[in-house]
Amino acid sequence: MKAELQGVSARGWICRQCGIPLEILPVDITYMGSSFQVELPRCRQCGYTFIPPDLAEGKMLEVEKILEDK
Ligand SMILES: [Zn+2]
Repeated sequence: MKAELQGVSARGWICRQCGIPLEILPVDITYMGSSFQVELPRCRQCGYTFIPPDLAEGKMLEVEKILEDK
């Protein structure tokens, strides 16, 4: 199953390693055995992906809810 989640703003996010701004890029994540594509701030140089706390907690719960409904 694939779901499009609301993207996260990349404004203000800077890679600590490279010192360059993160870009919004689609990232495949796996949660509860299902994979999703989410747009997250990501560093093109080192591949670091920033997962905001609200995504890790709040939005993941929404994802779980969607799965239960179907
Ligand atoms: Zn980087």
